[in-house]
Amino acid sequence: MSDSKIPSRVEIPFFPFGKRIAVTTSFDDAVLQDRRVVKAFNEWGLKGTFNLNSGRLLRTGKPATGSSGRIDACEVADLYKGHEVAAHTVTHPSLTRLDPAQIAMEVIEDRKALEDLVGYPVRGMAYPNGAYDEKVINVLRQIGIVYSRTVENSTRCFPPAEPLAWASTAHMYSKNPCPVNENFENLYSIKSYSGVFYIWGHTYEFDHEGCDWADLERIFKPLSGKPDVWYCTNIELFDYEAARKRVVIAANLKTVYNPSAITVSVSVDGKLTDIPPGKIVDLK
Ligand SMILES: [Zn+2]
Repeated sequence: MSDSKIPSRVEIPFFPFGKRIAVTTSFDDAVLQDRRVVKAFNEWGLKGTFNLNSGRLLRTGKPATGSSGRIDACEVADLYKGHEVAAHTVTHPSLTRLDPAQIAMEVIEDRKALEDLVGYPVRGMAYPNGAYDEKVINVLRQIGIVYSRTVENSTRCFPPAEPLAWASTAHMYSKNPCPVNENFENLYSIKSYSGVFYIWGHTYEFDHEGCDWADLERIFKPLSGKPDVWYCTNIELFDYEAARKRVVIAANLKTVYNPSAITVSVSVDGKLTDIPPGKIVDLK
């Protein structure tokens, strides 16, 4: 058997399926305006992570009306289907003002209530009022929270050095360094650019004075529909990163083993190969 076909290099790209950019979003507080954003995102193929305060959801057993402002718990599973539901604490306190026991209760009780609604483990979070410190991070680390979004910005936001202090690229109405849609177009037009573009906000902001629902399309639609962009939820980013870190490439470059439960793409001498979950793939 000749070894002439053994690859000379096997790389593990940052994103699956040859995508060079990941676009993800995050919205807080579970308000009625989420419906309109989810509908648009479903049309455009964008993904969102929605951070919910379980204690502020209505509990009438029927969809909320226009005057209530908040989503009803009975709507959560259907409304956010295909997106991610993440924690935002039960009652929206600034966690830095609480002792560790109250921090733990605010987050665990939120997780439990949301998990009862959506039927999967809730592992992501956004900090109410953006408030966090080392004490808060240390509690979250013990209770199953994989990441927590801050209100800080970073041009290289992923992978974060501390997932429990995760900065986004920008708030949706940020003008720094330029409006979000222009910022994205600029980065996307650089063919060698690879990274995560992560935008957060509150859907009720479209109703604020000086804002407009036309902003939804203006800001977000330009992010959609790109063939080389991976549209993912926040937790999908972290799950994929964990999976790609577990990939084992044989020292002789003849095989690759993917021990995770997610398909991981590897680049074999520049050619993309998908390694199915739990499989050893022959590279020759
Ligand atoms: Zn909030």
